[in-house]
Amino acid sequence: MMRQGRGRSACAPAVVCVGMINYTERITLLMEDIVRRTPLLSFIDLSEVLVFARFGRSDAEGPFATCHCLTLPESEPGYFFWRDRNTGELTRRSEWFVTKSPIVRVGPKTIKYLISFVLPRYTDQSLERSRKADFYPGAAGWLAKLDTIFHELYHIDPDESGIRRFVRADGSDSLRSHGPRFYEEVAQMVGEYLGASPEPELYEFLMHDFSELDRRFGGVVATTFRNFPSFPQRYMEPLNLPAEDLSVRIERIKRLSQPAVYTEHDLHVRQFTDAKARRLPRRPHVAA
Ligand SMILES: [Zn+2]
Repeated sequence: MMRQGRGRSACAPAVVCVGMINYTERITLLMEDIVRRTPLLSFIDLSEVLVFARFGRSDAEGPFATCHCLTLPESEPGYFFWRDRNTGELTRRSEWFVTKSPIVRVGPKTIKYLISFVLPRYTDQSLERSRKADFYPGAAGWLAKLDTIFHELYHIDPDESGIRRFVRADGSDSLRSHGPRFYEEVAQMVGEYLGASPEPELYEFLMHDFSELDRRFGGVVATTFRNFPSFPQRYMEPLNLPAEDLSVRIERIKRLSQPAVYTEHDLHVRQFTDAKARRLPRRPHVAA
């Protein structure tokens, strides 16, 4: 569905301009085409993947996008402890806790992965001065953004055990989430995708930087979580287990200040500018 009009349209305050580009919706539509056409990514069920935006300035260091896994199991019970630096004696400890992933549901679907794009930084990503440039000799700068989309999708593990792992040359599991050929394989998938002549209107929006998008569409909006700038993240849940050593002081761990369960009602559309993100009075369209 490509509904966004071109150019600036006049709109009253507190009403969302239909002309604004919904950036996360555009990325989701593009991902649907990518997954359909890319054999290595064809196992991905995008109804279990939610794309959302975080804020990050273009002139600041930081990620362009991140793949967040929600399927990691609950951790074993544990606690923090502190020792006296001189005697080595246990001075205090935390209560027992487990670490859990929050649950995110959109309608009847439980979301397994979140992919966040950092706006406006991502819209200004370019091959120039990037390590990816080696894989795209002579290519247009905006391909860095298409590469990032493939990159994040490639982090989704076909075995559903979290973030894709890589095997070292000696056959052992690598702890790094980027195997030796990760960047090369991503670039190869990008090349094959473009070589199959996808509809340009699906990816054209990637050719514009933030100021150009703002000028053409009169604004950039994106799906975010209600507790923006926060979003669903692993959290600690205290366990009601007695401490073995009563002479040591027990510290309470921080109580959860975020929801443990998120639904589509926790999704808000925000307008991003180069300085901040502002909530709009409309629920985002979520592709089921
Ligand atoms: Zn990565």
